[in-house]
Parts: sequence; C-alpha cells; structure tokens
Amino acid sequence: TMEFTDRLTRVEPSATLAISALATELENEGKDVVDLSVGEPDFPTPENIVEAGKDAMDAGHTGYTTSAGIIELREAIADKLADDGLEHTTDEIIVTPGAKQALYEIVQALVGEGDEVVLLDPAWVSYEAMVKMAGGDLTRVDLSETDFQLEPALEELETAVSDETELLVVNSPSNPTGAVYSDAALEGVRDLAVEHDVTVISDEIYKEITYGVEPTSLGTLEGMEDRTVTVNGFSKAYSMTGWRLGYFAGPEDLIDQAGKLHSHSVSSAVNFVQHAGIEALENTDEAVDEMVEAFERRRDMVVGLLEDHGVDVAVPDGAFYMMLPVDDDDQAWCEGALEDAHVATVPGSAFGTPGYARISYAASEERLEEGIERLAEEGYL
Ligand code: PLP
Repeated sequence: TMEFTDRLTRVEPSATLAISALATELENEGKDVVDLSVGEPDFPTPENIVEAGKDAMDAGHTGYTTSAGIIELREAIADKLADDGLEHTTDEIIVTPGAKQALYEIVQALVGEGDEVVLLDPAWVSYEAMVKMAGGDLTRVDLSETDFQLEPALEELETAVSDETELLVVNSPSNPTGAVYSDAALEGVRDLAVEHDVTVISDEIYKEITYGVEPTSLGTLEGMEDRTVTVNGFSKAYSMTGWRLGYFAGPEDLIDQAGKLHSHSVSSAVNFVQHAGIEALENTDEAVDEMVEAFERRRDMVVGLLEDHGVDVAVPDGAFYMMLPVDDDDQAWCEGALEDAHVATVPGSAFGTPGYARISYAASEERLEEGIERLAEEGYL
C-alpha cells in the first residue's frame, strides 16, 4: 500500500467539489441548472489575443523559453506594473502558468514547517491549502462583521500580526467578497508589516475589474517596496482562464529562490501563450472596459433584485462575486438551493466564513435573473 505524505493528507479536498458534483448529477438528469458558482468570466477571450496566440504558434514559438518567461513579456509586465506605480526590473518578475502557480511558488519559498501566515477571511480557498502543504500555521482575521472591509477591522489585524508572523496575504479586490480595501486599510497593513517585519503577498488578480474605485497597489506604499510580492494574471481581466498565464514580481532574492522551484517544476509558462500575453497587455484595453461594464450592470441588477426580495448584501466594488447572507449551515443551504431551485452557489465555509453563500455574477443577465427568481420561489431568499 502507498503511504502518503503529511503535506497532502493534511489538506482537505475542496468543499466546492460536493456542489459541482451535485450540479453535474442534476444536469445529467436533464435539469436546467443556473450555475452561479463559477470563478471565471463567461466571455470568450478577446479576438486579438486569440489571433496573437495562433500567429505565435505559426511563427514557431513552440519550444521551451527562458524559465522566468520571454523577455518581451516581462518587459510588458514591468511597464504594466509601472503604470500601477510599482517599479520592477525584468529580473524581479517570473511568468507562471497562472497566478495560482505564482502563489504556490511564493508560499513554498517563504513558508516552512510551523511558520505563521495571516489570512483575511473570507479568503480564496487555495491560500489555506498552499500554506498547509508548506507546513505553515494559519491565523485568520474575520472580516464578516465589517461588511468585509479591512479598515474597520485593523484592530483585529493588529492582534493577529506579531513578530512570529512570516507572511500576510492581501487580496483586493477580494474573491469571494468583491471588497476593495481603502488606502487607510492598506496603510494599516503597511504599519504592521514594517513593525513586525512581515512579507505581504498582494494578490491583484481582480485589480482591473472594479466599479468606480481605483485600488491602490500595496507595494506602492512607502516601506512596502521590499516586502511586497505582487501577484497578477491574465485569467480574469482578459478572460483567459484556460490559457494559464500569470506572474509575480518581488525582491530579487525571493525571485532567485522561487525561480529554483519554478525551473525544476514547470520549467516555464507555455511559449505561444506568453506571446499572446504581450498582446493582451498592450492592445486590449477596450475589450477589458466592455467586460467590466457588463459586470457592473450585472452587479447592479443582482443587488437590486436581492433588495426587491428584502436581502441586503455588502455591495462589491470589484471582481464578480458577492456574499449572500444565508443560514448558519451554509453547506446545507447551498445543497438545498441546488436541489430545490437548481441554482449552484458556493458555501461561505469554503472560504472560512460560514453563514454565507458566494454568488458569481459571471453569467448573463437572463440567467442571473432566472437564478434569483428561482431562489425566491423556493424560499431561499
Ligand atoms: N487568486 C485569486 C484570488 C483567484 O480567485 C484566482 C482564481 O480563481 C487565482 C488567484 C488564480 O487564477 P489563475 O491561476 O487562473 O491565474
């Protein structure tokens, strides 16, 4: 018999899997399921990016690349980061197959057995798993009492962060809440990080998807230049989930250490996909604007429909998710909503915050309306 390692046996399979399995089962029975559980834009990848990928393949960009990624893409990323106020040379950037791989490499580089990592709850599901796989311990700060905002919870964060803290993860705009943290909140993070010598991951994968607010990049704050690792990717802003392309930028010594893991595991991101990434960064602003406008219309529609049914949510300023307050047993609520109303959502407990269900509004206005009507009819609102 095989003996499996602690680093994997201590990680639970994703709690969302039960819901997707049930959704698939219902669909196989011929039921029409409104899927509001997905974490990806429902738009096709913009045409110019697809063409750039095809052209790169035709031009023979099909071999290995430099492990950190082709220089032209890292230059384009450095320019994008500079637009956000972040100064990084191409030697301080690694291109990865998705932001998820970037986060995995950073956690592996910084977190060892018993090291403490602070998360802001609700938090994207994979942070916990990555930290546990690295042998780290989690300290969690609950933001559910403050409409998922960090600024009014800075005192709780202060209690959680100590000299023992190795790493803090900040994700703004947030998955699953859509919250965008204020500058004052980020300044609070900076003060604690400097005081306790903590490295901070700023996961900015939803930075381009916001409604009327401009999120500040944490690494632009004075004192954060050398202790911030900025993560971003192409999946969400450019609707490129399946292309698998992301990156991280940080201090060169971190890049050197994480680069060893990168070169000995994935080698590099896919060659022609990297070429498509240049096109995405340089020539796709208009298509991104159109997608963001569509998300904003859907957000307003869903918030309005929920209000009509007497349900108040914390209105998200970014990403394409919101947290719906439900029963304490959110897992049972989600299973029931799926079985009775055929609407798929994700239980808040998957993100460390029971009592909520995450709704993704990366679906057409018709499907969103249908989903909410069905939840109301079956008594789930
Ligand atoms: N970070 C957050 C907060 C996410 O929601 C996701 C995707 O769901 C990722 C990172 C990873 O995205 P990808 O690996 O597709 O770039």
